[in-house]
Amino acid sequence: MHKIFKVLGFPNSGGDEMQIAVSGGKGGTGKSTVAINLAIALQDYFNLTLADLDVEAPNDHLLLGIELQNEEPVKMFMPSFDYSKCTKCKKCAEVCEEKAIITMKDGTPFLIPTLCSGCRACEIICPVTGAILESQKLMGHTYLTETPYGFPLVTGKLLEGEERAMPIVTMAKKRAKSLDRRLLLVDTAAGTSNTVSKALEDSKLLIAVTEPTPLGLHDLTLILELGRLMNIEAWVVINRSDLGEKKRVKEIAQKYNAEIVAEIPYSEDIVRSYIKGEPIILSESKEARIFKELAERVVNYLR
Ligand code: SF4
Ligand code: SF4
Repeated sequence: MHKIFKVLGFPNSGGDEMQIAVSGGKGGTGKSTVAINLAIALQDYFNLTLADLDVEAPNDHLLLGIELQNEEPVKMFMPSFDYSKCTKCKKCAEVCEEKAIITMKDGTPFLIPTLCSGCRACEIICPVTGAILESQKLMGHTYLTETPYGFPLVTGKLLEGEERAMPIVTMAKKRAKSLDRRLLLVDTAAGTSNTVSKALEDSKLLIAVTEPTPLGLHDLTLILELGRLMNIEAWVVINRSDLGEKKRVKEIAQKYNAEIVAEIPYSEDIVRSYIKGEPIILSESKEARIFKELAERVVNYLR
């Protein structure tokens, strides 16, 4: 289903891709709720892709009520050693910044797989052809799922028990960009880790979702600081805006020159929509109106 584009001047596909990001604090702030509802509203104006880069706990598909499709594995380089060729020179261990290669007294190298980042420095420096062989470790998957709302959802999902999220974020973002849509809407992980920075990279706008609680204020400060460091304009959406102290949110937003663009009161209808996988924006509710107005602000900003 492709909707009619309401705004002239935004080509249907191709051209320079724009990127905006929805980010926020620890789980449950409503970041994904904002991302999926905004994506549905923006699809009226842009040919877009939604990328769920919260790879440790992706849930945009659940909120959209769809099952992930088109799985592709994400594998990472890992060295293995051909001891019949290795001269035990220790160069691989010396170059490894992660200290993922240890050597025995005689110089025989061993890999500690959990420390390896897959940078290939050991392979590059090894002076003996064939002493380091390529092994691959499965880190997780990316998915490309058509939604019933006219836009594709790209999802990154880290393998359970795996901690290195960066390759998944990188590959999911690459897959989303390869679709070459006019707008890429990125839903980042919570917090301000390097994977969040990777997800935010190239964004024109950061929409920080927060709650007016002490933890929410703390996380909001961190994400706005990251936005400032990355030179990305930031807006603030206050979720459950009637359940806390908004004055402090306003002070923090003002400090970072971030406009508060939407306030979403606590709503059982939103909770119900979450459980049913039926986005609230499809209803005639006042919450749907808030998301539509937010989308209009985004459109005017990107225009
Ligand atoms: S790939 Fe990089 S991190 Fe892994 S063992 Fe080699 S040098 Fe170390
Ligand atoms: S750099 Fe190559 S030859 Fe030297 S110890 Fe490592 S694997 Fe062996």
